[in-house]
Amino acid sequence: MLVRCATPLSVRPGRRRPSDLSGRRAASAVGTGDPALIDDLVAANRILFQQGVVDGFGHVSVRHPARSDAFLLARSMAPALVTAGDIMAFDFDAVPLDGDDRPAYLERFIHSEIYRTRPDVMAVVHSHSPNVIPFGIVKTVKLQPVCHMSGFIGAAAPVFEIRETAGDASDMLVRDRTLGAALAASLGSSSVVLMRGHGSTVVGTGIRQVVFRAIYTEVNARLQSEAMRLGTPTVLTPAEAENSARTNDGAMHRAWDLWRRAAMGDG
Ligand code: MN
Repeated sequence: MLVRCATPLSVRPGRRRPSDLSGRRAASAVGTGDPALIDDLVAANRILFQQGVVDGFGHVSVRHPARSDAFLLARSMAPALVTAGDIMAFDFDAVPLDGDDRPAYLERFIHSEIYRTRPDVMAVVHSHSPNVIPFGIVKTVKLQPVCHMSGFIGAAAPVFEIRETAGDASDMLVRDRTLGAALAASLGSSSVVLMRGHGSTVVGTGIRQVVFRAIYTEVNARLQSEAMRLGTPTVLTPAEAENSARTNDGAMHRAWDLWRRAAMGDG
């Protein structure tokens, strides 16, 4: 068979743009065989920006579906601009798989050390969402669930104090394995850990749940701050928190569909 299709000039070998090569390398490195998961991860990046959880900074990851000792995370870039070709795969030392040498987030150790220590965690969001930060700064107040949408917070969110590991002259970033492990220890078995003077990290059993939790961590912080301006808030009991969290897990897809439509213009 000698018939050949004409090759457009722009995709002839040797004329590929660098971004095309990056995309091919990314597809090889990620190798999930699960395009729907990649699609959800891209949507999560866009949703978290659209809902005010991340801005130019912050990131969301998911455990690798084909190997439990790796995870997927975008290359270093603004979350709202992430596409499928920007997703990289990392091992639990936060080293990119398959020699992918694109710049990675400095704080990828947040993700690697939480996946290493929490086998139940399938997705992680790190953000600097602004209403949460005061609760990591003021020692006399804890972030607690004040509304049924945020029962996943449990009794109260723990606070990670980076000075206990890095001393008093760090740049505040979780930029190596030691700091990532210390953060994971502070998280313990919780769903949310606050990071003093920095932000917060939220974990979940999947992308959609962790996005729901990251959004409602920010909402809860805003509500709790407002309530404290009025008086002393009544918080959910541990049983109310646990039961409302379970109910929300069954209903969160309604919110995901809305957020996705708003952020992606589809779905
Ligand atoms: Mn950060």
